[in-house]
Amino acid sequence: MLRKLEEEKVFKDPVHHSVFVQEPTIWKLIDTPEFQRLRRIRQLGTSYLTFHGAEHSRFSHSLGVYEITRKIVTQFERNGFEDWPQEERLVSLCAALLHDVGHGPFSHSLEQVFGTDHERWTCDIILGDTEIRRVLREADESLPERIASVIRKNYEKSIVVSLVSSQMDADRMDYLLRDSYFTGVHYGTFDLDRILRVLRPFQGRIVVKESGMHAVEAYLMSRYQMYWQVYFHPVTRSSEIVLRSIFKRARTLHEAGYRFGFLLPPLRKLFDGKLEVRDYLELDEAMAQAAFGQWTHEKDPILSELCRRFLNRKLYKYIPMERLDETWIGEMKEQWRKIGLDPDYHLEVDTPTDLPYDVYKPGSPSGGSEKSPILLLDDHGGLTEISEKSEIIRSIAGLQRGKFHVYYPEEPVRSQAERLSLTIRERLHLQ
Ligand code: CA
Repeated sequence: MLRKLEEEKVFKDPVHHSVFVQEPTIWKLIDTPEFQRLRRIRQLGTSYLTFHGAEHSRFSHSLGVYEITRKIVTQFERNGFEDWPQEERLVSLCAALLHDVGHGPFSHSLEQVFGTDHERWTCDIILGDTEIRRVLREADESLPERIASVIRKNYEKSIVVSLVSSQMDADRMDYLLRDSYFTGVHYGTFDLDRILRVLRPFQGRIVVKESGMHAVEAYLMSRYQMYWQVYFHPVTRSSEIVLRSIFKRARTLHEAGYRFGFLLPPLRKLFDGKLEVRDYLELDEAMAQAAFGQWTHEKDPILSELCRRFLNRKLYKYIPMERLDETWIGEMKEQWRKIGLDPDYHLEVDTPTDLPYDVYKPGSPSGGSEKSPILLLDDHGGLTEISEKSEIIRSIAGLQRGKFHVYYPEEPVRSQAERLSLTIRERLHLQ
């Protein structure tokens, strides 16, 4: 078969300017229904309710991760670096392109409520009865299994895993720049070209030339800023809480035998925990939002009200809480029942530790299950973990503990304020 397309294909891209496709396999993968579905899944879930520009899809992010990987691999090949296994080009490009193909609608919320796992779905889609698998096998029989093992992080050539999944991988580099661009939060930028020039393949992993340390500092600073400005934003957290409550309520109703006015088969199978690849691929954000719209007409007042809140952006109010005060939470729950609210759906204490983001972890030298640390390579072939040399990185490394916030619907609480105890009224500033 053709190793190269007769004519290179180009996608315009606001972050990388252009995305270049040279291999027929990549071109065909982009054209599969499973990959096209990613156009209907937003990269940042509910963040568009906080930052109205954040409508970008997992489709554009996946093309971006592919493009960064293509640039890195091409640079390694051009320089003839011996530690780069040249035969791994196609596996690397396909894994980069497909790494998010198993994401569902509003992925993080969905995973929390239903225990789905996008990484597992990614592998199931690559190995299942899909167009993607057909295209991969056409190039090479062993390709689906090899790509799935890159996704599972147990591929025999660890350097390929390090390219797609490490603390400075193509995935993170693309989403930081892309999320920054589309949210309009400009602290998120860093010098990608410079970073790409200082990456080196070295003994089965990707390391950074020591002279590139400051470019990496800027990259980690951008992670730090994006955390606090975008990923942990309390309004986004509020919208996720409302969304999770919708999923929770719908499943609870379904389990109790409630007859929905509107329930599409893939959602029923999701509630029953009986999704197969075919059903999962039908789930996207267009379908979820159509369901929420229809559910505003449901007889169940909790479900219909939650859906109205989500669609009309009447999110929960939040107040900060210095520490986790169980006594106070217990009292709130009790008083919530008194005024006709359900603490399961109308009260949530949240701390953003569940997000799959962390700024940087120096980790253990052996790596373990943690993502391996960023290593600097000096002129004599010596490696040093980056936070040993950089004061900036030392000070921002590790997951900073987020503040606790209490979320609740403001109007029903405010309108019934006189029925609440004095302490609660004081703490909610209702006096
Ligand atoms: Ca990703």
